[in-house]
Amino acid sequence: MKDISKLVRANIAALQPYSTARDEYKGSLGILLDANENPYDNGINRYPSTSLKEQLRRKVAELKGIAPERLFLGNGSDEAIDLCYRVFCEPGRDNAVIMAPSYGMYSVCADINNIERRMVLLEPETFALPVEKLLSAADDATRLMFICSPNNPTGNAFAVSDIERLAAAFEGILVVDEAYIDFSAEKSVVSLLDKYPNLIVLQTLSKAYGMAGLRIGLAITSPYIVSIFKQVKYPYNIGTDTISLALKCLEGDVSPQVAQIKAERDRLLEVLPQARCIQKIYPSDANFLLIKVNDPRGLYNALLQQGVIVRDRSTVALCEGCLRITVGTPAENEKMEKIIYSYES
Ligand code: PMP
Repeated sequence: MKDISKLVRANIAALQPYSTARDEYKGSLGILLDANENPYDNGINRYPSTSLKEQLRRKVAELKGIAPERLFLGNGSDEAIDLCYRVFCEPGRDNAVIMAPSYGMYSVCADINNIERRMVLLEPETFALPVEKLLSAADDATRLMFICSPNNPTGNAFAVSDIERLAAAFEGILVVDEAYIDFSAEKSVVSLLDKYPNLIVLQTLSKAYGMAGLRIGLAITSPYIVSIFKQVKYPYNIGTDTISLALKCLEGDVSPQVAQIKAERDRLLEVLPQARCIQKIYPSDANFLLIKVNDPRGLYNALLQQGVIVRDRSTVALCEGCLRITVGTPAENEKMEKIIYSYES
């Protein structure tokens, strides 16, 4: 087994974390004169309660079929991406291997933290995972490797066996971002956590769960890494109303919506290639489609003129000519389809 504690930056390992008086006292409290709050109750005059957040952590852990100790809740998974750098990478010395094209925040957070990033391109057209190239891009100073599956913006998911090869061979921390896993036919790599202590799986309530406005992301990993993330995060990283709303939303069942989105995705995959302007439509395990068109900017503008915004990815390496389109409601998709069918180019 790899010794993960050796990968943690020395200053983080030695950190005396900030702790609140309420964290330190576990009994029941009546009069709160410890945190310089306004004492007049308006529902949010108190800092978020640790026990309410713990309730959300237990609820999400139950939903994901994992022990709560394996779950870190962040202010979006973006917070967890940044924490990976802050915990494991020494600025100006260490580096991260990042697959490309992929989600932009892996690179942005590397730049913010002054960490060299080593970009490794997926295989052209198939967007297959270049396992050997990723491993050979790493050296003694590589602390992190970022894999996104299903990948944004290409839409494809990687086989668990390919990701396992990386987890087994890579000496640093393998971060697998599964933001879109709920739309995928491929299985989550959460099942590998017992075997690979160097694995961090990111998921989110922003996509399938319909709570992008709340900003709640999940890092599922070893209890040891969770405890370090908790020490480094800001003291109250998720607000009271956010936690309460998330608990309320989680009482509902999003599976009919997810099924509808997947059905629409599959329908669009079948019908959109009939449009003259589309050269290619890539298979998708996510809630969006990557389409290659003759004139991406022209089609982008035509959609925009009629009130439909999509993502222009045509300047991204390996995505030349491509737009990324999120699957909307059937009515929204129909409007988008009509514009694409009538676009002459
Ligand atoms: N990972 C991927 C692959 C994403 O595409 C996004 C957002 N588009 C995120 C993470 C960020 O998710 P969150 O809302 O949880 O910060």
